[in-house]
Amino acid sequence: MKRILTLVLVLMLVLLVAVACKEPEAPHTHSATKTEQVNATCTASGVKAYWYCEGCTTYFSDEACTAKIDSIDAWKAADGKIAALGHTTLVEKTAAVAATCTTAGKTAVMGCERCDYTEGGAEVAALGHTALVEKTPAVAATCTTAGKTAVMGCERCDYTEGGAEVAALGHTALVEKSPAVAATCTTDGKTAVMGCERCDYTEGGVVQPAFGHSATKTAQVDATATTDGVKAYWSCPACNTHFSDEACTAEIEDLDAWKIGDGKIPATGTTPDPDQPGEGGGETPDPDQPGGEGGETPDPDLPAAGDDDIVNDEFAPAA
Ligand SMILES: [Zn+2]
Ligand SMILES: [Zn+2]
Ligand SMILES: [Zn+2]
Ligand SMILES: [Zn+2]
Ligand SMILES: [Zn+2]
Repeated sequence: MKRILTLVLVLMLVLLVAVACKEPEAPHTHSATKTEQVNATCTASGVKAYWYCEGCTTYFSDEACTAKIDSIDAWKAADGKIAALGHTTLVEKTAAVAATCTTAGKTAVMGCERCDYTEGGAEVAALGHTALVEKTPAVAATCTTAGKTAVMGCERCDYTEGGAEVAALGHTALVEKSPAVAATCTTDGKTAVMGCERCDYTEGGVVQPAFGHSATKTAQVDATATTDGVKAYWSCPACNTHFSDEACTAEIEDLDAWKIGDGKIPATGTTPDPDQPGEGGGETPDPDQPGGEGGETPDPDLPAAGDDDIVNDEFAPAA
């Protein structure tokens, strides 16, 4: 019995010790260290500041350590998270560059006012020229002046093409504009006028001067006592014309009529009657008209021209 009692006493002692050890300790005071806030940026979230007490291995969201954080990782993703800010309204960082017909352009570069985020600045392909329109009309070449092709140009820029010189055409093969006119003895002629079929160019038309008569003489046929003679005359074969003078100024219109008219040399007839002197037909000379042919008293000092009675034999050969 004593042995059992001892055992009970031992057990009780153990229990006492155990209870003594289990008695309330002195109250714990947190000693927390702060983790600074991580600020959010435009694109990344941040984390609020928090505190950690090593003594009790506990996180708190306040410096006074009254708001305990059960799971730090969960808190960082939820209550402790500071949402990303997002970019500000974008502002122009670089102005747009307009494309031209031949050079590429760029869109404006727009950027965040808080960070270096940008967008835009894309290349805009060169536009190429518009359909070409006529800037200067073509100038037609003529026979003697050069022409030009039309100048065609872009409606947006000053690009042009064309305007090439077109050589002068030169005259066409010349055709007869007016026929040649032959010169005659008395009238001028002309060479043919030849001209271009496209313009009014002509050449030729050169005056060919009248070449004048070229007459041959038909000698005088003397009269006899019974037959009439014919005075000398001149004939131009080129114009088939007869003249009564060597200078070809007195034209004979009808040679046959002339030979028995103005060109006739009358037959001398029978031996002249001394009582009827002169060619004047034998009328009695009028002393009051000294000009009467053959009628005036012959001047002894002068050869009595026209007095057939006296001078016929002497002067006829010279006539
Ligand atoms: Zn603590
Ligand atoms: Zn930003
Ligand atoms: Zn252009
Ligand atoms: Zn021409
Ligand atoms: Zn002639």
